[in-house]
Amino acid sequence: MDMRYRRLGKSGLPLSELSLGSWLTFGKQIDDATATKLMKLAYDSGVNFFDNAETYARGESERVMGRILAKMKWPRDTWTVSSKVFFGAGGKLPTQRGLHRKHVFEACHAALERLQVDYLDLYFCHRPDKETPIEETVWAMHQLIMQGKVLYWGTSEWSAQEIMEAHVVARTNHLIAPVMEQPQYNMFHRQKVEVEFEQMYRTTGLGTTVWSPLASGLLTGKHNKGTAKGSRLTMQGLDWLKEQQVNADRVKRVEKLKPIAADLGLSLPVMALAWCLKNPHVSTVILGASKEAQLKENLQAVAAQDLLTPAVMARIAKVIG
Ligand code: NDP
Repeated sequence: MDMRYRRLGKSGLPLSELSLGSWLTFGKQIDDATATKLMKLAYDSGVNFFDNAETYARGESERVMGRILAKMKWPRDTWTVSSKVFFGAGGKLPTQRGLHRKHVFEACHAALERLQVDYLDLYFCHRPDKETPIEETVWAMHQLIMQGKVLYWGTSEWSAQEIMEAHVVARTNHLIAPVMEQPQYNMFHRQKVEVEFEQMYRTTGLGTTVWSPLASGLLTGKHNKGTAKGSRLTMQGLDWLKEQQVNADRVKRVEKLKPIAADLGLSLPVMALAWCLKNPHVSTVILGASKEAQLKENLQAVAAQDLLTPAVMARIAKVIG
């Protein structure tokens, strides 16, 4: 399976079409040996972007990834790694979260230490912070880039208007603007990527690193007859996620997608991931996996996108609405 690469928006950075994320898995659902196998399989398959955040497993996800990167000794110029700031790494005090300059700086330093790297390739503002002036955050990101601690900065789950405000501040003050946004994108969650951001691909050259491409596993079809045992949707404290992703209407639609995938000779998750890749405004689709076999299967999506002809896309559109 040959990996393919896309530029991150208007930046020059080439990211693999499929990347690997660690939310709920590293430092939590899976042991470090499995995490190591996942990263090795991904890297050996041409994946060059590993996604992380200060808040994942309260910093533990970054620690696990950092240890693996250190152990693997892959040349630093062959992979990229991210962190995200906003939610904090477990601390509950107001200085320990948000997008004020203090936390943006301290979270960056903490992520560098946990990931055992000298710089973050990508650094995201994980959510908007309504209480911090946008100028302060843009300046903080710009300064981190000037200090060589971050290469590219972006946002996650910001509205088009909030991203535009950051651009206006950057343009007015000759600062480095955000280059990417990390939104949820899958067959059941399309509004932001397909409608809200539409103009911004042209006007700002926005790149996207999209998350939950399988709607937390729903689009694999394995939850159609009740939540699959041992999956994240049965994990303690994640009832909200199940409620958000699973409902009768969605399950019905997933059933209807099955014959389409079967006609193409693809598994449902591979078709669902390939569907995300068909959108040219997606820079990279971030995969999640709790098992090596899942990742192996999902990596087939790169080649599979060629099978999703306009006729197939129309058939899928009829089902997903
Ligand atoms: P998905 O929607 O693809 O869900 C991945 C999960 O689905 C796996 O962990 C596994 O869970 C199940 N799964 C995956 N492939 C298969 C398969 N072939 N067969 C059966 N089950 C499968 O992606 P994530 O929700 O994990 O998101 C990906 C990444 O995006 C995260 O790791 C994180 O880096 C990023 N993210 C960013 C967010 C943000 O706010 N910026 C929010 C959420 C994620 P299981 O085995 O437990 O069923």
